[in-house]
Amino acid sequence: MPYDLIVIGSGPGGYVCAIRAAQLGLKTAVVEKDKTFGGTCLNVGCIPSKALLYASELYEEAGHKFGRMGIDIGQPKLDLAAMMKFKDEGVDGNVKGVAFLFKKNKVESIQGIGRIVAPGKVEVKAGDGKTQVLETKAIVIATGSDVARLKGIDIDEKRIVSSTGASSSSTAFCRAWTTRSAGNFSASSKGRESSSGCRRRSPQWTRPAGGSRRGSSRHPAAPWKSSRPTWCSSPSAGCPIPKD
Ligand SMILES: Cc1cc2nc3c(=O)[nH]c(=O)nc-3n(C[C@H](O)[C@H](O)[C@H](O)COP(=O)(O)OP(=O)(O)OC[C@H]3O[C@@H](n4cnc5c(N)ncnc54)[C@H](O)[C@@H]3O)c2cc1C
Repeated sequence: MPYDLIVIGSGPGGYVCAIRAAQLGLKTAVVEKDKTFGGTCLNVGCIPSKALLYASELYEEAGHKFGRMGIDIGQPKLDLAAMMKFKDEGVDGNVKGVAFLFKKNKVESIQGIGRIVAPGKVEVKAGDGKTQVLETKAIVIATGSDVARLKGIDIDEKRIVSSTGASSSSTAFCRAWTTRSAGNFSASSKGRESSSGCRRRSPQWTRPAGGSRRGSSRHPAAPWKSSRPTWCSSPSAGCPIPKD
């Protein structure tokens, strides 16, 4: 039976639209290419970045400000694996919340890459390669955006890390904090968020001079030295990066 509405993409734009449409009585489906719902914001954007910013802020307060306020807890130790787990739990709760709301509001979810092949026809290619064509009266494209790439710069998630890499992999995150020679090409407030999280864990890690408020992509930074924090050389501290 054809749908009234198919929403392609389940980020904040897509899932709110789909849920509201279903509440208003439309037979609605969401097509999502990723394994979980919630798009950039819930999986690799707002939620994980705020979880890591919050945790790193507390770490900085505990290390640098508590003493002055008469709270003596000694030098805090960072357990990166536990911090990433804290972030993962936040993400997990949120994406499951969207799945719950889909179910509750009778929004059908279909996993795969959606493509409009004709008016009122959405082809969905599943992970196993199988395709199906769904019919619908209306289509909403809510496919969001992806990490912007700069020509000639390969985001390897090791030396050059995207916000997606930094929020989803402790290896990339750890590399971003500890690399001895790095430049911050943050072109947005989001990149600046990641860099401030990095700085908090390594006092020597500083944003290079020249970065404007609108980002430092127009001011490629000179490499600078950053001391590897002691926790990073210890596997027990949760750092996946071998000392090189
Ligand atoms: C690090 C970071 C931090 C951020 N922090 C904040 C914040 O604090 N506050 C704030 O307001 N915003 C924040 N944002 C921005 C916010 O994440 C985006 O504005 C928001 O996610 C956009 O929602 P959307 O639904 O338009 O797209 P997205 O969230 O990008 O969702 C699009 C969805 O469509 C899916 N999709 C794409 N193509 C297809 C296809 N062909 N078939 C099926 N599915 C497809 C994708 O897999 C994805 O799930 C942040 C972004 C980043 C990167």
